[in-house]
Amino acid sequence: MIASKIKAAVRDVHDFPKQGIIFKDITPILKDPGLCKEITTALAEQLRGLEIDVVAGIESRGFLFGPSLAQLLGIPFVPIRKAGKLPYKTISQSYDLEYGSATIECHEDALLAGQKVLIHDDLLATGGTVVAASKLIMQLGASVAAYSFIISLDFLNGRQRLVPYGDQVFSLADY
Ligand code: 5GP
Repeated sequence: MIASKIKAAVRDVHDFPKQGIIFKDITPILKDPGLCKEITTALAEQLRGLEIDVVAGIESRGFLFGPSLAQLLGIPFVPIRKAGKLPYKTISQSYDLEYGSATIECHEDALLAGQKVLIHDDLLATGGTVVAASKLIMQLGASVAAYSFIISLDFLNGRQRLVPYGDQVFSLADY
């Protein structure tokens, strides 16, 4: 089963990026091309029957599987990046972190009004990042069709925070 394969590959790193955090390191997955292929296929299968026009991936680990997922679905991929990284004209959305705030951006022509967008990231924790991404997408008149993650840390209740933006939340391995 895909969930157990993912959990077997993921490495827990204690005290990263700061004391007390146990970080789920997904980089060992990338050393296994067969598992990468299975993950991309499983992500696509969860979306069967949904109308999706674009995959939007979140920097940086949303760029690992987002483009291959979009290619498998035969639809465009759009990068959502940290402030100051995208070269063309951008729109931005700020959100609160535990300490301070962060800003994410996408190109102003990344999406067309009315498009249905799948937001993809490697991992759902509190949901703050993808809520900000949802607002960014809505600024362009597009809507969130679904969320797709490789991992969900369900004990942080991120899924509940996404309910006002989109009720389709998929993940392959839950903790
Ligand atoms: P959230 O905004 O849901 O609290 O945090 C999710 C974002 O932080 C994602 O972009 C994700 O890549 C990153 N993140 C937070 N914790 C972890 C973790 O334990 N492992 C990985 N791979 N990413 C994490």
